[in-house]
Amino acid sequence: MSSSVKFTLNHEQDTQRFAQVLSQHVHSGIIYLIGDLGAGKTTFTRYFLQKLGHQGAVKSPTYTLVEPYTIQGKEIFHFDLYRLNDPYELELMGIRDYLETPDALFLFEWPSKGGDEIPKPDIVIDIQKSEDELTRFVTLTTESEALSQTLQEQLNGA
Ligand code: ADP
Ligand code: MG
Repeated sequence: MSSSVKFTLNHEQDTQRFAQVLSQHVHSGIIYLIGDLGAGKTTFTRYFLQKLGHQGAVKSPTYTLVEPYTIQGKEIFHFDLYRLNDPYELELMGIRDYLETPDALFLFEWPSKGGDEIPKPDIVIDIQKSEDELTRFVTLTTESEALSQTLQEQLNGA
């Protein structure tokens, strides 16, 4: 059974802190990032990669579909499927090869566009903007009870 943690990000520093906490606990697997344009999916990814030790720029892969990183020997693939017209395009761009990378971490923006071509997630991060667009409401869902409990403690202090 999956469990969820809910928390609020009032400033970009809160997103940075969320990324920092998650980067301490998650080093491989599949992360889905869900939310409208401008919700903060790429911003979160940027902080997350930086917290893992990445020092260069983090570009939005909106046009390239994927941006690969090697951070301290670890392979990380940041996908943005927003512009994907057909999930089959992922087959053509060789997604299977990426997915076979051992111990890799995958972040998917707009996973709904990937259909059956992308694996089921280990973690789903849903980011919703408030009406005034200043606040982000996050729901993180995972099968790992241990992870959700740790995040609950570290992010909500309870
Ligand atoms: P997405 O990838 O979801 O389309 P981006 O990360 O590209 O969104 O853009 C999010 C925008 O919202 C950025 O301009 C960022 O500076 C701004 N922003 C404001 N507050 C936050 C926050 N708490 N977390 C993330 N982004 C925020
Ligand atoms: Mg984005």
